[in-house]
Amino acid sequence: MNIKGKIKNITPEMINWRHYIHQNPETAYNEKNTSDFISKKLEEFGIEVHQEIGKTGVVGIIQGKNTDSNKTVGIRADIDALPMTEKTNLPYASKNDGAMHACGHDGHTTMLLGAAKYLAETRNFNGTVHCIFQPAEEGGNAGAKAMIEDGLFKKFKIDSVWGIHNWPGVPVGQAVIHEGFAMAGGNIINLKIQGKGGHAAQPHHSNDPIVAAGFTITALQSLVSRQLDPFKNVVLSLTKIEGGSAFNVIPDSVTIGGTLRSTDKVLRDEMLKKIKNIAQNACAINNCSLDLEIRPGYPSTINDIKSAQLVKEIFQKIYGKSSINKDEKPTMTSEDFSYMLEQKPGAYIWLGAGEKSEKLHSPYYDFNDELLPIGANFWASLAENILSE
Ligand SMILES: [Zn+2]
Ligand SMILES: [Zn+2]
Repeated sequence: MNIKGKIKNITPEMINWRHYIHQNPETAYNEKNTSDFISKKLEEFGIEVHQEIGKTGVVGIIQGKNTDSNKTVGIRADIDALPMTEKTNLPYASKNDGAMHACGHDGHTTMLLGAAKYLAETRNFNGTVHCIFQPAEEGGNAGAKAMIEDGLFKKFKIDSVWGIHNWPGVPVGQAVIHEGFAMAGGNIINLKIQGKGGHAAQPHHSNDPIVAAGFTITALQSLVSRQLDPFKNVVLSLTKIEGGSAFNVIPDSVTIGGTLRSTDKVLRDEMLKKIKNIAQNACAINNCSLDLEIRPGYPSTINDIKSAQLVKEIFQKIYGKSSINKDEKPTMTSEDFSYMLEQKPGAYIWLGAGEKSEKLHSPYYDFNDELLPIGANFWASLAENILSE
């Protein structure tokens, strides 16, 4: 593996930063300490820092040797943690109750910090590198959108955008880069079933929303299996149900929450109509009514084909011909880097985290530190390649 000497040398330092961030996780838009930590490091490296872009986002600007060149790149890392409790028992496990870096954003942040340190020391490129540290990727909080709305692409001239996510199950040293569609778009749905509450022993005086919820859930299971072309890709998962307060009271209402994911937006809109129709009817036969709230989720993540090909070339040049994994299919998980890719060409790369890594969002997950030099070295090479003369 062809890692630049300077990046090898800073790897122990990167591991310390990663463990510090891991121990001090902060969830969406609360990344105050994380954002200060990143800014302090960038300043130490002699990099111009802009804080509070999209609330807790940070942009670091590194000028190359030839400042006349107007070529630029934007490299993005997500910085937020998840609202969950860590169970790893690691010496650097989360100190913040109810927050955990279970998706490896501590590692993504560190890889970009490592690359920033190297690029600021060597400046072996012409033009400008923008290091974009983005908040609130998780849970539909759309930190990428917040940064764009706060002027990310207006305040800074950024020609292309690039992102990495670690990917458990893919061997370390390999990457997955889709040419085109990579990750699904989604919607959050909330079905409020309104009935009429009453005494559990006198159901004939009530309209029972619990029974209506049961019918609705069962009926919706046949949507994908019976009403969708088997060659099309949609997932509907109902993940949350709330209602009722006592064993002898029929509640007034029940709420069911879930998510709909698909590869394209037209199909998703069609499915949303069908969900409404099915759920309304399932409620109607139980004398209940339905209020369907549809919240937009992230758009599909679609890599620019030329950018994806360029990334593959660079990756293979550094890590060898067999370093591109072609087995992994696109996924139904979604990712808010899609908002940046809607505006600028670029690509989103999955970096193998190894077969032994716990899965993302597991309370036992920990970012694999072996990836730190691989990712930092890749970012540095990408910048040097795109911004070469
Ligand atoms: Zn995640
Ligand atoms: Zn993530």
